Amino acid sequence: MTMMKKIGLLGSTGSIGRNVLRVAETHPERFCLAYLTANTRVDELIAQSLKYRPQTAVIADEGGYAALCAGLAGTGIRCEAGAAALADIAQDGEADVVLNAIVGAAGMLPTLAAVKAGRDVALSNKESLVMAGELINHICRTSGARIFPVDSEHSAIWQCLGGEQDRDVEKIILTGSGGPFLRRDLSTFDTITPAEALRHPNWSMGAKITVDSATMFNKGLELIEAFHLFHLEPSRMEILIHPESIVHSMVQFRDGSVKAQLGVPDMKVPIQYALTYPEHLLSDWPRLDLAAVGTLHFEQPDLRRFPALELARSALEKGKTYPAVFNMANEQAVGRFLKGEISFPQITHAVRTALEAHEPLDSLSREDLMSLCKLN
Ligand code: NAD
Ligand code: MG
Repeated sequence: MTMMKKIGLLGSTGSIGRNVLRVAETHPERFCLAYLTANTRVDELIAQSLKYRPQTAVIADEGGYAALCAGLAGTGIRCEAGAAALADIAQDGEADVVLNAIVGAAGMLPTLAAVKAGRDVALSNKESLVMAGELINHICRTSGARIFPVDSEHSAIWQCLGGEQDRDVEKIILTGSGGPFLRRDLSTFDTITPAEALRHPNWSMGAKITVDSATMFNKGLELIEAFHLFHLEPSRMEILIHPESIVHSMVQFRDGSVKAQLGVPDMKVPIQYALTYPEHLLSDWPRLDLAAVGTLHFEQPDLRRFPALELARSALEKGKTYPAVFNMANEQAVGRFLKGEISFPQITHAVRTALEAHEPLDSLSREDLMSLCKLN
């Protein structure tokens, strides 16, 4: 017998959020929405709420509260506002699984609140794990909450690990497309415009992760994310460039056997798996046609082109609060790059400078992490 699963969707108006709603409407007998949340796009949140009928709609930006209440008047849908309301609903909202599709460090407190309450989290917000992976894992061990990866690479590794034993794993190989600047002349990197960085060859995503894919900070964040999900020392995690984005990642075993997970680049697949694990539900989305793809390419990443990869590895090896600073410094630099305030290479420069200046904290309490969010 199958049960209706109530999804608490944080960040419903984003690229991932909208795909979650598409997955939910593909299987109306399996999924319903407990709540929807957005940052500022109140009109879209109202339209989504009228269509998917959650119990509650939350707008993080309090300026949107009056419009939200007016738009949902008479529907019986409860309206809430403010950043604190996000953590409250992640903790207390009546959801069987919390799907966190918020972008950036703003997603950390809701993740912590959900796992503290013992709620399973389908996690797209990788920044949560990068900032507070140890704390989240610690809380999960006591509360019994589980983290199900949504990120396509981590979903691939998770699927490859199915039925295997930890001790048989030699290493994991995270693939990344290399983004739009894989072949661009390095001497022209300081002229890269936000519009150029926002043009990803294979994936359609939100602005921040698209820039992160161009710098490969995204793969750096994913390396740290993988560490907290799969518990392998950094030397057993590799990054490989794969421009076609068909092989989503791989696991190599100690007898030399390698398992890979493949598919068309479509986030609905890993989103759905995070919601239905260990089941694969029937869906009519486009199938992979390898004969049409023809050839797959792989190459080692060039660390001069993508210095973010080395910064990530060093932040992970140093541990403590270094990964949190790695994330915060990048997040702020990407914001400034998108506003035209700094150049593309200055993103990496800003992160390197922040890491060099950082005095690490030994403890990783929620309060320390919060103060890091403010300080940087
Ligand atoms: P997006 O910018 O399209 O959407 C972000 C969502 O978060 C929106 O609903 C927005 O309202 C909400 N939000 C933004 N700032 C907020 C704040 N301060 N407080 C509360 N809510 C806020 O981003 P996205 O591309 O959907 O990415 C979301 C997350 O998923 C990121 O962590 C990203 O790294 C990860 N991810 C995305 C993809 C993808 O294909 N887009 C793939 C893998 C992982
Ligand atoms: Mg990814």
